[in-house]
Amino acid sequence: MIPVNTPLLEGNENKYLHECINTGWISSEGPFVGRFENEFAEKVNRKFGISVTNGTTALELAVKAIGIHAGDEVILPSFTIISCADAIVRAGATPVLVDCNMDTWNMDVSKIESVITEKTKAILAVHIYGLPAEMDLILAIAKKYDLKVIEDAAQMHGQTYKGKPCGSFGDVSTFSFYANKIITTGEGGMLLTNNEEIAKKARYYKNLCFNNETRFVHQNSGWNMRMTNLQAAVGVAQLEQLDKLVEKKRWIGNLYHELLGDIREFQLPIDQREYAENIYWVFGIVLNDCSYSVQEICTHLSKNKIGTRPFFWPMHEQPVYLKQGLFNDTSLPNSEFLARNGFYLPSGLGITETEIRTVAHCLKDFIND
Ligand SMILES: *Cc1c(COP(=O)(O)O)cnc(C)c1O
Repeated sequence: MIPVNTPLLEGNENKYLHECINTGWISSEGPFVGRFENEFAEKVNRKFGISVTNGTTALELAVKAIGIHAGDEVILPSFTIISCADAIVRAGATPVLVDCNMDTWNMDVSKIESVITEKTKAILAVHIYGLPAEMDLILAIAKKYDLKVIEDAAQMHGQTYKGKPCGSFGDVSTFSFYANKIITTGEGGMLLTNNEEIAKKARYYKNLCFNNETRFVHQNSGWNMRMTNLQAAVGVAQLEQLDKLVEKKRWIGNLYHELLGDIREFQLPIDQREYAENIYWVFGIVLNDCSYSVQEICTHLSKNKIGTRPFFWPMHEQPVYLKQGLFNDTSLPNSEFLARNGFYLPSGLGITETEIRTVAHCLKDFIND
């Protein structure tokens, strides 16, 4: 079996986990939590790191911490994970969707201004699959209309945009450390900011709005989004290997490019733009003018014990939102096309060269049949 993702845990993960067990520090009170927050924030060039339970809660906390309220509108790409839109909807605000580019798969920045209204409060920028969103243009629009920016960098540990770390832009950025992300803590997430007020608010709301003066008297309701010392221990060990992990992702991407580059009907990920080299969080393929479907190709791979995933399903086609009366007349053709014609190959950090060659071979067998 070649699973769609296998994590790589070859550094000090074991050692640090044993330290947690041996010292009895397993909850969020343990020393690895603060260490992971500081070291991660420093890597991304941010002042404050606030660890949380996952990338979804990081987004929810970010929306709360920058002060998005009921009635506000937040602009985001339709082609993304549901965590992004859910965070906005849960705050009582309205997600306003923008289509993506067909080549970069990121939000089409030229479409943002036309959906700005009096109610628009923020832009949620998401970096998709390995190539950063066009942050300079997004930040310029945000400045012009006085909007906040949340940067979802869940897929981008170690990536840069014009030489600056992804996750260092906007008022607040969020990361996930799920097992398929570039560094992982199994489950886990982080919110980063340079703004002390936002950091304070995030710490307060992620920890049930406890306060130091009156321990069990609460003025607000928050969440328990605390990361454990066990997760943070794995995070510290993973962070030590970040450069190596990024290098391996690029090696995986380059090898797939080399092996699949001559297949006419495959649109492969862009290898670079002037602002960044692709980090290939996942190696996506979009089918163009094909006699076969994504379903057929993925079934063939699955029969040969190779895992795949379809691309994101756009937010404006999510039954859960349509039932709430959202996005009913929305049509965003690029997102719709990618959802129906895109899928990604096994590209986890644990993959071997032999496995990549097996995957490419199996794809070619299918096409030449
Ligand atoms: C994975 C991911 C998330 C959600 O993170 P979880 O830790 O799985 O909750 C959010 N945004 C993006 C872009 C992601 O890739």
